[in-house]
Formats: sequence, structure tokens, C-alpha cells
Amino acid sequence: MGRRDLLAVRDSRFSRDSLVVAGVMRWFLRAARPLPWRGRGRSGYAGLVSEAMLQQTQVGRVVDRYRAFLLRFPSVRVMAAAREQSVLAMWSGLGYYRRARLLHAAARLVVSEFGGRVPRTVSSLLRLPGVGRYSAASIASLVYGKREPLVDGNVLRVLARLDARSGRTGDPGLVRWAWSRSRELVSLVEPASAAGVLNEGLMELGAVVCTPRNPRCSACPVSSHCRALELGRTGSIPASRQAPVRKRVHHHAIVVWRDGRVLLEQRPASGMWSRLWQVPTVEAGRVLGVAELGRRLARGGDGVGLGVGHGLSLRKCDRFVHQTTHRHVTFHVFLGKVGGSVGSAGSHPGGRVWRSWDQACRLPMSSAQRRVLEVAQTDA
Ligand code: SF4
Repeated sequence: MGRRDLLAVRDSRFSRDSLVVAGVMRWFLRAARPLPWRGRGRSGYAGLVSEAMLQQTQVGRVVDRYRAFLLRFPSVRVMAAAREQSVLAMWSGLGYYRRARLLHAAARLVVSEFGGRVPRTVSSLLRLPGVGRYSAASIASLVYGKREPLVDGNVLRVLARLDARSGRTGDPGLVRWAWSRSRELVSLVEPASAAGVLNEGLMELGAVVCTPRNPRCSACPVSSHCRALELGRTGSIPASRQAPVRKRVHHHAIVVWRDGRVLLEQRPASGMWSRLWQVPTVEAGRVLGVAELGRRLARGGDGVGLGVGHGLSLRKCDRFVHQTTHRHVTFHVFLGKVGGSVGSAGSHPGGRVWRSWDQACRLPMSSAQRRVLEVAQTDA
């Protein structure tokens, strides 16, 4: 990037909009962070991967994962041919595993329906599992240079502040307005193939300058056109969305080590963290004491199937909270000791297995369950 011709805008009257467009693009070409999915040689496949990873995960956590993922699955064909468990294992730590499953399904569709080439238009991209309006517009404009509007949370905030537009983040009316505003701005970019520079510039501006709290207006390239700044309303535009009400649940995680191996089971095929691995875990709406936990385990309740028949003894060693979008999960970590043998006859779909630490680390597991293992290893 860095070409002067990208800075041209269609509106020769130099309206406020055209000055905003030019200001954002010029700033982005100068100040863009050197992220691994940016720059020359960006492919549709890399765009699919980065879009999937960046949904609901911060850039800093994605960078290393993205590189490792592309080393393991360097092309859409390689990923399409891989087993789902291998894809999930490479996703470990990023959370929201549904995204990995959808990405895998998208890769398979690209191979089966599009000859192994990621489609270039928004309408075709929308046929891929997990690709919504935002991701489709992002790949079409940033990777393939299509003139497409693009709105994510960062863009919405910048546009709302520039125009001092009232509304709550996530309000459908405000979102509709932002898409239409983005369409107006992107129509001013010349040549059309540079539309991605404006889109990515607005996203970058929202990520590093026009942040939700305490925007750095003194460093903003378009501050002279910002109505929220003029009105002293940068702190209240857009109004924050109402905090979600999270259901409170308690997960009692039982870590059983034997001969350097840990007992693991696979979660059911549906629901939260589906098909990921974990230590035997009893879920409840309240905290269970050791005695009650022992009784539930003895009954094989919650599919754990560890019981008094195995001479199980439990010692609580830690507790921590893990928040998901809809749940406030308190993890209660127990160290368990068993006398008899514990085979794979549990009622969990994948049964239970003994695995070494290294093997456990390679299995797809939620970050909360990884933390359980780390806590227990320290305390063992
Ligand atoms: Fe955001 Fe401040 Fe720039 Fe306005 S001047 S767009 S509030 S950073």
C-alpha cells in the first residue's frame, strides 16, 4: 500500500465526506499495524481464516494462532481434508469453537462447490457456512478489491461519532444507518479497488484511536470533521448496549491422575463446548459439597460415571470464574483419587480415556478446562 492514487475521491467538490474518506485512507496507509493477515499476497483462504478468528477475539490473541493455523493448514484443500478434531485442536484457546466447525465446513464447501477457490462476490461468499454480511463484505473488499460497504463494531462507533448519531450499540436502526453511511462513503473511493483501504482504515481507527472509552481525539486524522467531538459527546456516542444477563452455573471438575496420565471425557455433541474434551465434570445450578458430589458421581449422574465403586476420594483445590456470552460459570476444581479401574464405560458419547499431559494438550479443549488441568497439575 502507500500509493498516492488510492487517495483520490470521486467528489471533486471536496465535501466533508470526501475529506473524511481521504483523511482515513491517508492515515491508514501511514499508520496501519503490521498484522500478519494484511499486506500483499492476501488470499481469500487467509481472509476466511482471519475473519473467523477475529470474530469475538482480540487481535493480540489471534496473531500467533493465525500463523500456527496456516502452517498446519496452508491451503483450503488441506483444511478441507483434515478431520474436525484436528481443526478444533488448532483452535484451542481461541474459544467459540462453533466458529472452527463452521470454518471447516466452509473449506469443504469451497472445495466441493467452488473448485477450491474462495468466491469473490458477497452473494457467493454468503453461501459459505459461518460467513455473514460483515465477513463477506470484508473478504470481497479487503482481499478482492470490490466496492462493498462494511460495518463492524469499530466502524459503527467511528461513523456514529463523526455524525453525532444517537443510538445504542447493536440497535438495529443504528446498524442499518451505519451500513447506509458506509455505502455512501465507499462510493466516493477511486479507484473502486481501493474501497478495502477505506473499510480497513475505519476499522483500524476504531480499534486504536476512536476506542469505546477515552478516544484519542488528538491523534485522530478526521477530528476536524467530528460532530461528537464538537458537541462534547464522544463519551456518550454510541450509548453502550445493555449488559447481557448471564445464567449462573457451577462446574465441578474432577482431575484424576494415575501413573502420569489424566482421566478425560468428551462432551456431548450438542450444547456448550460440544465435542471438546474435559476432565470429568458435574454441572449444577448451585455449589455441590464433596459428599453430594460423591453421591452424584456414584449414581453416574451427569454422565460422569465415576463412583464409590472405584474408591473415589475428592479434595477441593481451587475455584475460578469463567464468563461466556450467556453464562457465568464458576469452576470448582477437585483432585480425585480412585482405587479400582476406571474404563471407558461411561455414558459420555466418547467414553473416558487416560491421556498423558502431552496428549491432553493436543486435544481440543476449552480454555477453562485447560486452566483446570494447569491448576490441578500445580496442586497435585
Ligand atoms: Fe473518534 Fe475522536 Fe476521531 Fe471523533 S475525533 S472520530 S470521537 S477519535
